[in-house]
Amino acid sequence: MRAKTKRVLEELKKEYPDAKCELNYETPFQLLVATIMSAQTTDVKVNEITDTLFVDYPDLESFSQISQEELENRIRTIGLYRNKAKNLLMMCKQLKENFGGEVPQTMEGISSLAGAGRKTANVVLSNAFGVPSIAVDTHVFRVSNRIGLANADNVLDTEMQLQKELPKKEWSLTHHLLIFHGRRCCVARKPKCSLCVINKDCNYYKEILKSEK
Ligand code: SF4
Repeated sequence: MRAKTKRVLEELKKEYPDAKCELNYETPFQLLVATIMSAQTTDVKVNEITDTLFVDYPDLESFSQISQEELENRIRTIGLYRNKAKNLLMMCKQLKENFGGEVPQTMEGISSLAGAGRKTANVVLSNAFGVPSIAVDTHVFRVSNRIGLANADNVLDTEMQLQKELPKKEWSLTHHLLIFHGRRCCVARKPKCSLCVINKDCNYYKEILKSEK
């Protein structure tokens, strides 16, 4: 691990001592559902839905009984809700038919499910099963490439570069730290660079300072 990476992680750990998954869930199945719903929307919006949805339909058995129409109604406040409802019901069917009703604990298994790609698999593996993973979502992609922890133009290369750069035991926490930083400071438009605790180590900020000279 480069000295810069070490400093960045130390600072982010100090800044966000509570960094963790911000989706609410009690079981691997609920996390899988919430993560599929979270594509292109906020965790806050997903939590608003699952706060009651998981009370009424807490597990695979009950969730599988929901009709497409009811599920659409329950999740209509998030984007792509029709597609997500369809995928969630298909995913339930696949869990029953292909995995004996259990959420699989492999990248291959989870990413074979409807609505679940590599990012969803990494989130579930890391948070529900304790498998070291770096899920690269929009925040992790933006923040890690701005800082210079990665230098990639797509999420897969970013994930591979972060895996090389970081010891395995840091993967899951780094994912949360970068998301926390991306939501609170290194936002997409107008990042708060002058207030940022890692600005001395950030390539993006160095470029801004250079251009202002
Ligand atoms: S200095 Fe700016 S661009 Fe760099 S990590 Fe901080 S907020 Fe993001």
